[in-house]
Order: sequence, then structure tokens, then C-alpha cells
Amino acid sequence: MFTDRVNSLQAEGAYAVLARAQVLEAQGRKILHLEIGQPDFPTFPNVSAAGVQAIQAGQTRYTSPAGMPPLRTAIAESISERLGLDIPPARVLVGPGAKPGLFFPTLALVNPGDEVLYPDPGFPTYEAMIRVAGGIPIPVPLREENQFSFDLNAFDARISDKTRLIILNSPANPTGGVIPLADLKHIAGKAMEYNAWVMSDEIYGQLAYDGLRVPSIAALPGMLDRTIIVDGFSKTYAMTGWRLGYMVMPEPLAERVELLLTHSIGCSAAFTQVAGIEALTGPQDRIAENVAEYQRRRDYIVAGLNAIPGVSCQVPQGAFYAFPNVKSFCLSSKEIAQRLIDEAGVALLAGSDFGAGGEGYLRICYATSMDVIRESLKQMTIWFKAL
Ligand code: PMP
Repeated sequence: MFTDRVNSLQAEGAYAVLARAQVLEAQGRKILHLEIGQPDFPTFPNVSAAGVQAIQAGQTRYTSPAGMPPLRTAIAESISERLGLDIPPARVLVGPGAKPGLFFPTLALVNPGDEVLYPDPGFPTYEAMIRVAGGIPIPVPLREENQFSFDLNAFDARISDKTRLIILNSPANPTGGVIPLADLKHIAGKAMEYNAWVMSDEIYGQLAYDGLRVPSIAALPGMLDRTIIVDGFSKTYAMTGWRLGYMVMPEPLAERVELLLTHSIGCSAAFTQVAGIEALTGPQDRIAENVAEYQRRRDYIVAGLNAIPGVSCQVPQGAFYAFPNVKSFCLSSKEIAQRLIDEAGVALLAGSDFGAGGEGYLRICYATSMDVIRESLKQMTIWFKAL
């Protein structure tokens, strides 16, 4: 009845688990939420105030589809500084969240039959957008022991003249892994050899631990002209519900993507964009404060998981996810996740919600209070020991 493009779509696992949690909560059960991937911190007060003032001042009309010029300038300055590059505002497009930054450049680059390489396990939107564009999704397995970076042998075996686009995500959802610079160099070399584009999803780029600065493939020699950087305000500035993100790409591509924005979203909300300007140009110290708090939680939850017999968890270098290996229990990660919510009241996601390569892992979001983390570890420890 419908097109192949929508028939291929599937729900995100997080929404399905949230729905189950709500059913259990309606029955009076207490559920510990570790499933939804968003900061528990509020939007920075100066940013919220800027948005409210913008509404009161009547900034409630259409803006340019590409985004307000002062916001594009602020983004260009911020990203130029972070990457040590000189990026003009004409390369920057604004959208309602980072997701449009993934979707529209894919539509502009991928023709039916083109192959697209992407991480498995990876953010489910990648496979969805490749399929909507008519492309052929080519999952690349990750190596747990190397920060869940690509298995480079598998990557080399999959890249070919048919590869149009390579999707990277560092720090990553669902693994928290950061792609090492050496791997980025290898991937960049192959992208040039096969004349492929790279889409670098850097939405967690500023949420990295132990003082790590996350390297971007865009900053490697020759890569800026074949890379789309996707980033946004959702995670760094705790603004998931404001819907504000951006993408950086070569100008000829930006011109085509701007037309897609014009004919789909029209533009992003004006007052949201004003809040975004305040986020980028106002004080930045809260980012470091929030990162320090996430790191404290990461250290606690990773130690707690590794103390459960049969569970092993790498130390993630970024984002706010832990991705413990539960293969020793010989149950599917889906079954473990379902039983953990039903029997232990702990809501988390099966690794297989992020692709076949996630089988045998669980995704835990630790962007929640220490109390919830402590209680979840207690319940999980009891449950796994009883298995
Ligand atoms: N990329 C990744 C890897 C994500 O985890 C998310 C949010 N879950 C997004 C993009 C989308 O971000 P936004 O809410 O800004 O659209």
C-alpha cells in the first residue's frame, strides 16, 4: 500500500522501551530510566531566557531557510575555533535538530543503488536515512577492544567504487567510543582513494572525558571538501526539545541542501535560533561542569557493571552511554533488556536495537541522577546473580 521508502522504516528502540515503562508505571511499578539518550540537566538559564525574550520581542516569524545570519556566523566561529579551521558562514546550515543535518545531505548525495558505509552498532537513523534515499546500507562492524572504532579490515573489505558516503559518529551512540586519530587517518585515506564523501556526526563532540579533545576527520588534510560535519545544541547545551542543530559542508552542496530545507521544514523556529546564539556566545563554563558530572557517573557505573560477575564493560571516552558486554549469559540482548524492565524495573536498551553488531550488549544512558544509577546497579546485580 505504501512506498518501499516508508515500508523499510522501523521505530527507535528507545521509544518502544519508554512505552513499556509507561505501561508498568501506570500499574504502580517503579521504573529506573536508563533508556532515553538526553541530558538530565536543564537548558542553561541564560539560553532559556534569551529564547523567552525573543518570543516576547516578536521574533516569531519565518527566517531564512539556511538559518539566521548571526547564528550561522556564531556557529562558523565556534566550529572554526574547535577544529582549528577557517569555516565561512556560507558553509553552515541550521536545522531543527541534528537529525535534519543527517537526513538532507544524505538525500542530496545518495542516488538509488549507491552504497553507504555506517557503524554497526550505530544510531538507527543512519540506516533509515540511507534506505529513504534509496541507497544500499553497508554496515561496518566495530571492535570493542579499540574504543568500538571500525574494524578496519572489515572497513577495507567493504569500501569500493560503489561507496558514495561513509558515516562516522565519534563519540558514538550507543557505545561511547571515540575514534582514534590513527583510524581517522586510515578512513580519510580510503575516502580519498575511492572518492567518497564522509558524514561526521559530532553531536557528542564536546562530551568527552579525562580531558580528551575529540579529533575530527574534517580537520585532516584534504578532508574538509568531502566532509559534512553534523552537530547541534541538543547534547552540549541540554536543548533536546528546542530542536536546533547544524551542518557544515562545501558551498555547492550547501546550496542544494538549502533548497531541501526550503521545501521541507521551511526554516527553524526563530526564537530557538536566538537561544542558539546565546548558547554559543554566552558563558561556556557549564559545559565543563556538566562533563565533570557525567564523568563522575561514568566512573561509578562502569565500575559497578564490571563488578557484576559475567558482565564486562569498556570505559567509554565520550557521550553518556555505557555499552556492557553480556554475551556470557547466552541470552539475546533483547531478552535481557525485556526481562530487566519487567523483573528488575530497570529500563535500558538492547544492543541489537542498534544493528546486528550490537547483539550481546546493552545500552545504558547514564545522563541521570547518581541515586538512579546506584539503585539500578543494585537491581541489576541482584537480577544477573539470580540468572
Ligand atoms: N546523532 C546521534 C548519534 C544521536 O544520538 C542523536 C540524538 N539521540 C542525534 C544525532 C540527533 O540529535 P537531535 O536531537 O539534535 O536531532
